[in-house]
Amino acid sequence: MRFYNTLTKKVEEFKPHRDGEIIFYTCGPTVYHDQHIGNMRNYIGHDILDKTLRYLGYKVKRIMNITDVGHLTGDSDYGEDKMVLTAKKENKSVLDIAAYFTDRFFVDFDLVNNKVPEIVSPATKHIDKYIEITKTLIDKGYAYLSGGNVYFDTSKLTDYYQLTNHKEDELIVGAREDVENDPNKRNKTDFVLWFTKSKFEDQELKWDSPWGMGYPGWHMECTGISINHGGEYLDIHGGGVDNIFPHHTNEIAQSEAYLGHKWCNYWFHNEHLLDESGKMSKSKGATLTVSLLKEKGYNPLSFRFMCLNSHYRKQLVFSFSSLNSADQAYKKLLNKISLIKDEGILDEDAFAFYNNKFISHLEDDLNTANAITLIYDLLKNDLVNGHTKLDLIRSFDKVLSLDLIIDEKQSSNHEEIMALIKARDNAKKRKDYDMADSIRNDLLAKGIMLIDTREGTTYKIVGE
Ligand code: AMP
Ligand code: ZN
Repeated sequence: MRFYNTLTKKVEEFKPHRDGEIIFYTCGPTVYHDQHIGNMRNYIGHDILDKTLRYLGYKVKRIMNITDVGHLTGDSDYGEDKMVLTAKKENKSVLDIAAYFTDRFFVDFDLVNNKVPEIVSPATKHIDKYIEITKTLIDKGYAYLSGGNVYFDTSKLTDYYQLTNHKEDELIVGAREDVENDPNKRNKTDFVLWFTKSKFEDQELKWDSPWGMGYPGWHMECTGISINHGGEYLDIHGGGVDNIFPHHTNEIAQSEAYLGHKWCNYWFHNEHLLDESGKMSKSKGATLTVSLLKEKGYNPLSFRFMCLNSHYRKQLVFSFSSLNSADQAYKKLLNKISLIKDEGILDEDAFAFYNNKFISHLEDDLNTANAITLIYDLLKNDLVNGHTKLDLIRSFDKVLSLDLIIDEKQSSNHEEIMALIKARDNAKKRKDYDMADSIRNDLLAKGIMLIDTREGTTYKIVGE
């Protein structure tokens, strides 16, 4: 298995740290707002790596945090906590806001068939660990108390910038546009491990600590959670490319200083989804979510299909016209697959041939677009019987998770659903579109999504 390692800046053979389990950490969502389809592209990329490793036979323990405290408005250490801002705006408690957006996040996560990691942990559950790490860093001389806050002293490291390719000055300017000069810092790259003094006095979530009531700095959570759940050695740590600096850079600094050894060998970063005006971001106002795409009548898996047709390390520009094209192509593919007749017996040689090809595309830095092209090649090959084709596609779908084989018998209410589909068809014929839409929406509310194909309407269970 080979994929691009941001730490070594090359595509590398993946060698796990130990026999047995791989520990794979994904930086999770900040739950003060909905996660947009750009965020979801990032989690789809992680899902593919996770499922590829499992397909190759590795045992994977995947860990993801939920940032419910300590994510500030800017990359500076001085912005207002985003969670607190939203809570104030909505007149709710911070934890209510976090619970609300966490639930919404997992609805979208599921709609694009992402597998939930073995461990999903909110940042607020690990406060003791953050305090212990901060104490140890002070004892070891890597951290100092200044103006009431505890800072990490980046000048104590010789390789602070090991994860990035950039020149120091470029990074500071680029990543910290809204930085306010913090007079408490010894060096401009120092960052807060624990806050007690904030210019925003009404911070709702605070915990007692040796340095006074306060809360963790925003890089600390991933160090604390991953060590608590994954131990001292991580195999893979990932996020979007914007996490490289300062988030992951600071995570490495504090984790390795605390542990006294190398922490994580492979860093996996996904490129961004852009909108036509540039990077999608939460701060731009209206949030385009996967649920919203569904409301607009798109199958969320058309979005997954669109993502998998481009490489995770390339920027992808989202537009409704490209989603429409992906949607058409995805439906066509489903159609072609639905026409395969389950005939013949398993042709083991053909299965091995195509399966090896599939694996080699994924082992080649997760080339999902080539893996999908392979399905078209397989469909065209008259020498492979229908049964073998279906077995192969079912197997590939363990990684791609595009519900390529629609099993209409999947629901215990199959007869009832088919009757409603018929009633909807009749309503459409009568041009009673209100009735047709209401049948569609009622079914959707019950977690049953209708999929219109040229051969007729079929359905997919999305809410179980
Ligand atoms: P956040 O909740 O802001 O921490 O973002 C969650 C994850 O989504 C992070 O790992 C980000 O790197 C990633 N991300 C943010 N914006 C985008 C985008 N436009 N495209 C892809 N990934 C993104
Ligand atoms: Zn993180």
